Amino acid sequence: AVATAAAPAESDPACAAPLAVLGRDVTVPLVTGGEVTYAALDYAASAPALQRVWDDVAGYAPYYGSVHRGAGYLSQLSTDLFENSRDTVAEFLDCRPDDQVVFTRSTTDSLNLLASVIPADCQVFVFETEHHASLLPWESTHAAGRRGSDARVTYLNAPRTPAQAVRTLQRALAERAAPGQEGYGPALVCVTGASNVTGELWPVKELAAVAHAHGARIVLDAAQLAPHHPVSVQELDVDWVAFSGHKLYAPFGSGVLAGRADWLRDAEPYLAGGGASRKVARRADGGVDVDWHTTAARHEAGSPNVIGVYSIASACKALTEAGFDNLLAREQRLVAKVRGGLAEVAEVKVLSLFGDDSPSRSAGGTPTRVGVISFVVEGWNSSHFAAALSAEYGIGVRDGLFCAHPLVRTLLGGDGQDPGECGAPEAEPGERSLNAIRVSFGAGT
Ligand code: PLP
Repeated sequence: AVATAAAPAESDPACAAPLAVLGRDVTVPLVTGGEVTYAALDYAASAPALQRVWDDVAGYAPYYGSVHRGAGYLSQLSTDLFENSRDTVAEFLDCRPDDQVVFTRSTTDSLNLLASVIPADCQVFVFETEHHASLLPWESTHAAGRRGSDARVTYLNAPRTPAQAVRTLQRALAERAAPGQEGYGPALVCVTGASNVTGELWPVKELAAVAHAHGARIVLDAAQLAPHHPVSVQELDVDWVAFSGHKLYAPFGSGVLAGRADWLRDAEPYLAGGGASRKVARRADGGVDVDWHTTAARHEAGSPNVIGVYSIASACKALTEAGFDNLLAREQRLVAKVRGGLAEVAEVKVLSLFGDDSPSRSAGGTPTRVGVISFVVEGWNSSHFAAALSAEYGIGVRDGLFCAHPLVRTLLGGDGQDPGECGAPEAEPGERSLNAIRVSFGAGT
């Protein structure tokens, strides 16, 4: 099934990739001899860059210069491009007029930035099923605790349906003091839009409504959602959104945190340095006074990654122009094809948190998942299976626990082991697997 899904699009003109990506012609050697065109099916880790993004970057590369720092023409051009990219991202995310768009290195960086600006007494609610990037930054040792806060994290048990996720959050937030009552303080919910393990969509809008009804704010980890699905800050009514360029068909090295300005403006800068400060002066007592920017620049100290930021803006435009309706409809056909193929193999078990809805449901109607599918094969060590797909078929997938250890352990029904860390042994026939295989694809597949 994996091999069929990875067949070159040319063999099925109706299935041609809607967006051209780099690397479609790369050939790789096979252990059996000869070579084959590489099938990139690990988009959830990093999607191949769009040809359009690469072309835009190549067109700009001879002109790039230092942003916000030079009087020269190229420096001004680069500054305009950098700031216009902010507007493009704000438009792509349908931000509110007074939201800030901060450029970061990645989703991980964005969520760590947010964790560093949450109020000192903030209570954070996060499902145990999150990717480590959204699960781990909130503990006070990593978050505002760096400034001596007592931010508390409540880890919510894995829900088995979207409705249960909403109820779980509702219950957890209801235990807080109500607005106006003693003990009431700031709270933040962090939730992913689409799982990097199961591809399943989370009920973000409903979770946001529950969060707001209890006076909490919500940040959306859109690392896996944004490449597949439109993300509207206003429609979903989320307070912040984070995503990574390299999963959105741009090269590595840039990410976004967009949303409410107040917590960002009120906190200490994420990084201290040039660009974040408006004015720096020695004090009479020998120290230094700093007047920090109140715009996004407050958290963007240092020379910014203008190529990375421009790449994100270029990818946002390309996806918008291609139209998410088209991209989604086609991707849902691919999802149904791969899941349908896998369902025919008795030894394969597809991992699902929200219930194994039939493959055909994904083919029409409201999508319930994006093009991310994890599975185990009875009797196979997933790492060996993934290695064989690469060595014998030229198909690139991922194996392991996908930086979501608690979730994958829950799905595997026990203590999964990351082969990178533990060297998971071969599973005997009838035994459960210790890690999983993930196939993921998108608009360039
Ligand atoms: N959130 C989710 C759902 C992810 O899948 C990933 C990466 O796989 C991340 C966050 C972290 O993204 P990055 O590695 O670009 O920081």
